[in-house]
Amino acid sequence: KPRLIDDEEGGVLFLTASASSSSSGYGFASIEKQRQRLPVYKYRTAILYLVETHATTIVVGETGSGKTTQIPQYLKEAGWADGGRVIACTQPRRLAVQAVASRVAEEMGVKLGEEVGYTIRFEDATSTGTLIKFLTDGVLLREMMDDPLLTKYSVIMVDEAHERSISTDILLGLLKKIQRRRPELRLIISSATIEAKSMSAFFQTSRRRRGLQDAEPALAMEPAILSVEGRGFNVQIHYVEDPVSDYIQAAVSTVLLIHDKEPFGDILVFLTGQEDIEAAVKLLTEEARDNRKSSSGLIVLPLYSGLSRAEQELIFSPTPRGKRKVVISTNIAETSLTLEGVVYVIDSGFSKQRFYNPVSDIENLVVAPISKASARQRAGRAGRVRPGKCYRLYTEEYFVNEMATEGIPEIQRSNLVSCVIQLKALGIDNILGFDWPASPSPESMIRALEVLYSLGVLDDDAKLTAPLGFQVAEIPLDPMISKMILSSNQLGCSEEVLTIAAVLSIQSIWVSSRGIQKELDEAELRFAAAEGDLVTFLNVYKGFLQSGKSSQWCHKNYINYHAMKKVVDIREQLRRIAQRLGVTLKSCDKDMQVVRKAVTTGFFANACRLEPFTHNGMYKTVRTSQEVYIHPSSVLFRVNPKWIVYHSIVSTDRQYMRNVATIEPSWLREVAPHFYRQDGPDPMLH
Ligand code: ADP
Ligand code: MG
Repeated sequence: KPRLIDDEEGGVLFLTASASSSSSGYGFASIEKQRQRLPVYKYRTAILYLVETHATTIVVGETGSGKTTQIPQYLKEAGWADGGRVIACTQPRRLAVQAVASRVAEEMGVKLGEEVGYTIRFEDATSTGTLIKFLTDGVLLREMMDDPLLTKYSVIMVDEAHERSISTDILLGLLKKIQRRRPELRLIISSATIEAKSMSAFFQTSRRRRGLQDAEPALAMEPAILSVEGRGFNVQIHYVEDPVSDYIQAAVSTVLLIHDKEPFGDILVFLTGQEDIEAAVKLLTEEARDNRKSSSGLIVLPLYSGLSRAEQELIFSPTPRGKRKVVISTNIAETSLTLEGVVYVIDSGFSKQRFYNPVSDIENLVVAPISKASARQRAGRAGRVRPGKCYRLYTEEYFVNEMATEGIPEIQRSNLVSCVIQLKALGIDNILGFDWPASPSPESMIRALEVLYSLGVLDDDAKLTAPLGFQVAEIPLDPMISKMILSSNQLGCSEEVLTIAAVLSIQSIWVSSRGIQKELDEAELRFAAAEGDLVTFLNVYKGFLQSGKSSQWCHKNYINYHAMKKVVDIREQLRRIAQRLGVTLKSCDKDMQVVRKAVTTGFFANACRLEPFTHNGMYKTVRTSQEVYIHPSSVLFRVNPKWIVYHSIVSTDRQYMRNVATIEPSWLREVAPHFYRQDGPDPMLH
């Protein structure tokens, strides 16, 4: 009988004990056999029955049990995609959308983009014949703008609900509304953790209250909950005795230790983001060069969003005999993706998380401690194929006494500007009264309303303005960037501004800086513009086009070729959207003043002024007087112009502004008179 014993007991975590080892072989069986071996297969009939008879079915099952890849196929086999209907499955992460869609296409023996397709922002791989569609929850929200009742879908599976991403939460609230109008629509909420109870409560109460029952009497309105018994093996937990100061170094040493002492089996390392992952990859690769013996047979692979398709495929390819794969990943491998063959997990105890403070009105990505729930999920990844081991790079005392039990839903730690405008565009006027799975704070909501009002997107009654508000909502970008694009029309610099918007949509156009900071700085100088990073992007883009989009040119200039190709692609899509909204394509040639002005129309709320007397590069935000500094990677680092606007903030020891542009202070009042006044020499808040 499967049981869950607390990890505090003897340091051993029994995830479940139901596994029969005979079914653990992998890699050789036919795809059909593999499918039948998945834990979810035993529940095929039950799942189909529940979906048939219940408006909402909640499926809880351990990661790797087959929820994502199998349930949509079962639904299709049972006829839910007949008659032109489509089965949707949402994921919070783009990379997961692509990976699971390609896996399901492979299992069904069809070409990706035909019967099985996927859509992520700026990339649509579906056709009219698509029966199963994987998409991000954000994309499904966007689809509601054209089709508010999502009429083409027969079943919508909201996957990874335990992640509580901001879009998942908005989506759940809206789907509940849609169900009232479309009782035939079936929802499946799937989750890797038992938190399903609160989900169930969310779908229960108000529906009963609203008497949906009458619409389709045979349909049960109470959500059904199905728990899929996993087949995980025991995972032994090891803690460090003393806190580690450098988790990258500690992770690398642990990899080498495992490789030296432990029998075969792949290693999965959880770090936080591209930078520390690349750093660890580099350290391990250097080790391989300097010390053949300790690292021979290691294949080291990074895993984070923004990897190319080829790099993604390596992650999933079987480990060659006699080798040991080490995948160094963000928390995407925590529950979204399953890697076969992992026997050892190394958990840094951290992940990158979004935090928003409505008082300072600053949102940033910070490396923060994970919750106990995450730590358990990470450990569980070691028990896929046989009993495994998890090495936690923190002390047991810390785990027991200091780690939070669960994470905070993203909606309670995010800037809500995008969320508010989307709900408004869908005709939800009373946003505070919206039926949230977890309510956002009123302060954050007010901040968002203020910004949208100043952008001219909302009117005095907090309704979308016409045409600007509707146009901004139409563009799948942060409203500040959308506004910048739309105002570039009158300013005559749409060509330039579209490029800037495209570059801001990807993580970075530069190659990773680890160990080559000097070379990278020199390369950046070749393109650097006195007007700041956003204008610098224009120089890089121009150079890339002039080189004939050459990868060699990128290599020589420390520019990420894949990123630039994406920029070109995204820019093309943004150009089409902008033209549809009436923006005329026009270049301002060398007149960067108008470009900066367009930037200001979008980013005025992020204006900062250099503190005159501190002489250490400290700025203060005009809005909330927060201390901020220009990020060392910026071309304006150490230049410190008096007035700037920033695109985003990252915080480490200080709050650093990334992607900044110089502005004239007088523009602030000019572009946002509701926001700024100017009585004396400097603009101030009203
Ligand atoms: P869940 O959603 O319950 O976490 P999945 O449906 O994602 O589980 O995965 C089920 C199984 O399918 C995994 O255990 C793995 O064996 C296999 N699988 C999933 N994705 C891939 C892939 N891209 N390549 C190879 N195998 C995969
Ligand atoms: Mg899944």
